[in-house]
Amino acid sequence: MTEYFQDRSAIFESERILKESYTPNDLPEREEQLKRLGLEVLSPVLNDAPPHNAFLYGKPGQGKTAAARFLLEKLQEEVDERSGINLTTIFQTCKGHHSSYQVACDLVEQLTGDNPNGHPKRKVFARLYDALQEISGIIVIVLDEVDNIGNKDMILYELPRARDNGHIEDMDVSVIGISNDMTFYDELDPRAKDSLCEVEIHFPPYDADQLRSILDRRSKKAFVNSAVTQEAVALAAALAAQDLGSARQAIRYLYKAGEFAALNDESQVAEEHVRKAEDHVEQMNIAQSIRDLTTQDQLALLALTSLATRNETPAPTPEVYSRYTDITSHVDTNSIAMRRVRSHLHDLDMIGVVSGAKRSGGSRGGPKYYWELNTDFDTTVNVLTEENRFTDVLDLIDRP
Ligand code: ADP
Ligand code: MG
Repeated sequence: MTEYFQDRSAIFESERILKESYTPNDLPEREEQLKRLGLEVLSPVLNDAPPHNAFLYGKPGQGKTAAARFLLEKLQEEVDERSGINLTTIFQTCKGHHSSYQVACDLVEQLTGDNPNGHPKRKVFARLYDALQEISGIIVIVLDEVDNIGNKDMILYELPRARDNGHIEDMDVSVIGISNDMTFYDELDPRAKDSLCEVEIHFPPYDADQLRSILDRRSKKAFVNSAVTQEAVALAAALAAQDLGSARQAIRYLYKAGEFAALNDESQVAEEHVRKAEDHVEQMNIAQSIRDLTTQDQLALLALTSLATRNETPAPTPEVYSRYTDITSHVDTNSIAMRRVRSHLHDLDMIGVVSGAKRSGGSRGGPKYYWELNTDFDTTVNVLTEENRFTDVLDLIDRP
C-alpha cells in the first residue's frame, strides 16, 4: 500500500457497521416502542387492511428511524409469507425540505423516476396521486424528519385523507410521521393532528446503560475482536448520556476513536481515543452550528471573538456592541440596535457557542450580562472566514 492509504483492518472488522446508514437488526432498548408500533399501528396489514396513521417523536439519535425501518422490513417479510396482501412502503426523508411541495416532488421522483419540480403545486400533487393509484393495494408512506416542513403544512392532513377526498380510489395510503422536534407536535394544526396522530409513540432519551448495550452490540460486529476496550465503550456511552442521550452521538464517538487508534497504528481503542474523539466531534458540531447561523448572529460572534483575542472577555453587552459596530462599518451589512445584538447573543448562548453570565448591578439595578466565547477560538475564526466571508475584518482580530 502506498503512503496515501492505510490498512485499518487491525482495528475494524466491518467498518460499514459504524456508518449512519446501517440499520441494526435488533433494538432491544426500543422493545416497548416497537411493540406499540407493531400491535397498535401495523397489525391491520396482516389482515389486509391499511395500518393506522402514527406519529413517532423524540430527540435526535433515539432510534426512531432505525425502529421504523426495522419493523417495516419485518412486516414486509410477514406479508411475503402470506398471499393476497399487496403492501408497498415508501420511505421519504424531509430533511433539507421546507415545504410539502418539495416533499411531494421527491415522492413523485421515487415513484416514477421523474422529478416534477417547477410545476404548479396542484399538478405535482395530481401526479403524486396518479402514481400512488398505479401501485394499488396498501401503501405506507413514512415521512421522516417531518418537522422540517413546518407544522402549518397541509400534506400531513392531505395524504392520510387522500381517499376520503376522492384523490385515490379502491386503495389506502397510511402515513407514519417521524419528528425530532417535540414542539412540532404541540403546534400541529388540529386537523392534521386528527388525521395523522391516531397513535403517538414517544422515544425518550437513552440512559448510559442503554447506550452501553447499544455500543456493545455494534462494536462486537464492527471492531476486530478485543480491539476495543470495555472502558472505551463505557466512556463513549457515558459521555453521550451526559450530553444528549443520543445513540448516534455515542456511535460517532466510538467510530472516531477507532479512527484515531488506527491513525496512530495502535492495536486497541482506549479511553484516551474516546476523549479525543469526543472533542473532535463536538468541535465539528460547533463548526456546523456556526455555519448555520444568520449573518447578524455571525457578526455578533465575530465581535465577541475579537474581544476574546485581546483578553477583554467576559465583556458586557455595550462593549460587545461597540465592537460589533466597528465591524459592521467594515462589511457590507446593516448594523442593528444594541437590544437586538443582545438578543442575538442570547441565541448564541442557547446553542452553546457563547456563554453569558448574569451579574447584578446594571446601571438601572437590573442584571447585566457578561459574555464570553464558549468554543475553541481557532474553530470559530476558521469557520467565520470560510468562503472568504468577513476576511476584510479579519485584520481586526489579532490572533493570539
Ligand atoms: P433518530 O431517527 O431517532 O434520530 P436513528 O434511528 O437514526 O435515530 O438512530 C441513530 C443511530 O443509532 C443509528 O445508527 C441507529 O442505527 C443507532 N441506534 C439507535 N437506537 C438503537 C438501538 N436501540 N440499537 C441499536 N442501534 C441503535
Ligand atoms: Mg431519524
